[in-house]
Amino acid sequence: MIRLSGTKHLLGHKLWIKDFPEPTSQKRTSFLIVGGGISGLSAARQLTKKGISDFILVELESHLGGNSSNGENQYSKYPLGAHYLPLPNFHDKELLNFLEEEKIIVGYDANKLPVFDELQLTFAPNERLFYKNSWQEGVVPKEGNTIEQDLELKAFFKQMDAFRIAKGKDGKFLFDIPLYLSSADQNTRNLDKITMKEWFGKNNFKSEPLYNYIDYCCKDDFGLGIEYVSAWAGIHYFAGRKQDATSDKKDSVLTWPEGNARLATHLRKYSKDKALKNHLVYDLKIKDKKIIAKIFDNSKKTSVEIIADKVIMATPQFVNQYIIKNRKQFTTDFHYTPWLLATLVVSDLSDNFSFPLSWDNVIYGSKGLGYVYDQHQSLNQIQNKKVITYYYSFSGPDLKKIRKEIYKKKTEYWKQMVFDDLRIAHPDIESVTEEMNVFVLGHGMISPVPGFIFGESKKQASKNIEKLVYFAHTDLSGISVFEEAFHHGINVINQILHETALDS
Ligand SMILES: Cc1cc2nc3c(=O)[nH]c(=O)nc-3n(C[C@H](O)[C@H](O)[C@H](O)COP(=O)(O)OP(=O)(O)OC[C@H]3O[C@@H](n4cnc5c(N)ncnc54)[C@H](O)[C@@H]3O)c2cc1C
Repeated sequence: MIRLSGTKHLLGHKLWIKDFPEPTSQKRTSFLIVGGGISGLSAARQLTKKGISDFILVELESHLGGNSSNGENQYSKYPLGAHYLPLPNFHDKELLNFLEEEKIIVGYDANKLPVFDELQLTFAPNERLFYKNSWQEGVVPKEGNTIEQDLELKAFFKQMDAFRIAKGKDGKFLFDIPLYLSSADQNTRNLDKITMKEWFGKNNFKSEPLYNYIDYCCKDDFGLGIEYVSAWAGIHYFAGRKQDATSDKKDSVLTWPEGNARLATHLRKYSKDKALKNHLVYDLKIKDKKIIAKIFDNSKKTSVEIIADKVIMATPQFVNQYIIKNRKQFTTDFHYTPWLLATLVVSDLSDNFSFPLSWDNVIYGSKGLGYVYDQHQSLNQIQNKKVITYYYSFSGPDLKKIRKEIYKKKTEYWKQMVFDDLRIAHPDIESVTEEMNVFVLGHGMISPVPGFIFGESKKQASKNIEKLVYFAHTDLSGISVFEEAFHHGINVINQILHETALDS
C-alpha cells in the first residue's frame, strides 16, 4: 500500500487568494503566537516561565510540532521531519535546562558535565555507509580509499577542528549555535559570499570521497548541496557544535523513534488549552496600537477575529508575506528547499551484513540521504517488520521551479524514485516493501545560499513592526535546526518584555 501526504499546502495556498469568510466572532488576548512549530512552542514556554498565561497559539495543522512532527503505523512511530538533536554546546545553558526539565539530562558528573539518559542517546550501531559495494561503520568514506583521499579527509577534519575552537577578536566563536552568538569577524563572514564548492576548490581539495561527504552533510542540514550552500553555513555544520557537553560521548546525538516530535511533545504542555489547531491566520493589521488578526477555522469553515496587544509570528516568511503588507520585497531572498520523506514497512532488509543495520544508513553516490531505522531506539528490537524512513532533499539552482514540478508528480513516481535509490544497497527492496508512506514538504526548510545569512533581507525581516508584531522562526537564522527555533522562541519573548518594561 502506498500513500501520499504532506503539510496542508492547499489550505496554505488559499492565502494567495484569501477567499475566507468574514469573522463572525471575536476574542481578546495579550499575546498571540502564530505557528505551533518549535519556535512558537518555545515562545509559549517562555511566556509561561515569565508568569504570563494570557496568550493564544494558532496553528494551521491539526497537530502542533511543525517540522518536528511524526506519524505512526502499527509497528512504530516515525518522524515526519526533524529526527535528531546533536548534544548541545556546554555554554547553551537554556537548552541544557530544558533537557534537564524533561529528564533527558538525568544528572551532572564529577566534572559538572551533564549526564544524558542512555535510552535517549543513539544506541550502537549508530551510523553506517554503503561504499564500494559493502557497508562500513560511520558516514565518512573510509575503507577502500587511496592514500591521497585519506590524507585529504584528514586535512579537512583538521581544518574543521581548528574552526570549531577558533574565536574572533570580539572573543566569540567564529561559528556558534545559536547562530547569532557567532563572531562578527569579517574574514569569516566573507565565507558567506562563496559556495561551499568554491571553498573546497580554493583550499585545493580534489578528492571525490571528500566532495561527496561534504555534499551529503550540506544536504543533510540545509537541503541544498555543496554547489549551492554558502561556505559559512557549510563550515558551521562542522564547527558550530563544540562537542564539549560530555567527556566521553563527543559525537553522540539524542533521538527517538518519532524524532524531534518528542521534543515538540515536551514543549506542547505550555500551550495546553491555549492552542487553536486547524486555524489559519490570514490577515494581520494594526489599529489603535492593537493588532487585529483574522483567522480561518478550517473545521467549522468560519472565521474569528483575535485582538492582541502583541503578536509573535513564528511562521516562515513565505507565509508572512501574504498575511502582513509590505513584506514581499525581502521575502524573495528567502529560499526554501523541498523535502520528501518515505516511511517503508519492510519484511526484511537483507544486505551483505558487512556492517549491521544502524540508526542512520547512508548510501554513497545515491540521490537521497539514506534512511533512518525508526525502531532503532526501541527496547523491543526483535520485530518481524522493520520501519525505515528515507530522506530526500530537492537540491538545485531554482527551488521555485523544482517545487512546481513536485506538485505535478503522482505517488507512483515517488515510489519508483525511492525504490531506485534504495536498490543500490538493497537490490530486493521493492519485493520486501509492504507499505510506503510518502510525505512531501514543499517548503521544507530555509536554505542558506551565499549572501543570505549576513544579508540585508534577513535583517529587515527580523525587525519588529511598531513594537507590536515580532518575528521568530528558524528561517530568520538562515539554518534550520532545533536549537535555532528553541532560542528564537525564548529571545522574542525576552525582547518583548524588555522593551515593554523600558517603555512603561
Ligand atoms: C525534512 C526535514 C528534516 C529536518 N531534520 C532536522 C533534524 O534532524 N534536527 C533538527 O534539529 N532540525 C531538523 N529540521 C529543521 C526543523 O525545521 C527545525 O528543527 C524546527 O522544527 C523548525 O521549527 P520552526 O517553529 O521554526 O518552524 P516550523 O516547523 O516551520 O513551524 C511553523 C509552524 O507554523 C504553522 N503555520 C504556517 N502558516 C500558518 C498560518 N498562516 N497560520 C497558522 N499557522 C501557520 C506551520 O503549520 C508550522 O507548524 C528538519 C527539517 C526538515 C524539513
